[in-house]
Amino acid sequence: MVIAIDGPGGVGKSTVARRLADRLGLPHLDTGATYRAATLRVLRSGVDPSDGAAVVEALEGMDLRIDDGTVVLDGEDVTDAIRAPEVTAAVSTVAAHPEVRSRIVALQRRWVADHGGAAVVEGRDIGTVVFPDAAVKVFLTARPEVRAARRARDAEAAGKDPGEVAAELAERDRKDAGRRVSPMRPAPDAVVVDTSDLGIDEVVAQVLELVESAQARSERAEEASQFRSSSTGPRRP
Ligand code: C5P
Repeated sequence: MVIAIDGPGGVGKSTVARRLADRLGLPHLDTGATYRAATLRVLRSGVDPSDGAAVVEALEGMDLRIDDGTVVLDGEDVTDAIRAPEVTAAVSTVAAHPEVRSRIVALQRRWVADHGGAAVVEGRDIGTVVFPDAAVKVFLTARPEVRAARRARDAEAAGKDPGEVAAELAERDRKDAGRRVSPMRPAPDAVVVDTSDLGIDEVVAQVLELVESAQARSERAEEASQFRSSSTGPRRP
């Protein structure tokens, strides 16, 4: 089963998704890393991130492999490089181009299929676009000041002024929620969890409950379909 964990930065998404994957013995895909890797390639090729056609050309032939949290781009380990401030500043612009999204979404779906079809997938549009049939959809939120304080503690933001971190988050939210294609928003059937006053363990426990209910639902549906096929099947003489 696919478990979709969506939401903006600073809500605890990655930590929750990793813990869940560990608890459930499922692979974990951080889709933000796929857009970051694409952005790194774009920046290295020297093209303007807002030029859609040039960006698509710069991504031609990209070889991206992600496993156990290690991101390898064209044969080079870029796990740390994709967290650089220049990448963070440009990623929402690169991710807004529809052709970029369609290629990256295809890559994400292939990743999940190659990993057995069941995974914890985190991002912005997983429940709405990438896996609209996900068995569990969660959209994490938190108050802006809580998100900024959490982000300011991340290594990525080390040495930055908290006001600057808050402004960057707000700017990325504006771009991610405002883009024309696959804007960040909760799927109509997603459970929205405000993590402002919750610890990671509490959030993980809430999502695990949702996973258990989804598992029970799918077992009941499976039993019902077996019953239907046995009761409508050919009669024994
Ligand atoms: O999650 P993270 O902060 O690493 O994501 C980086 C950026 O990648 C987001 O701000 C967003 O622009 C883009 N993204 C996206 N769709 C996803 C995941 C990330 O557009 N599913």
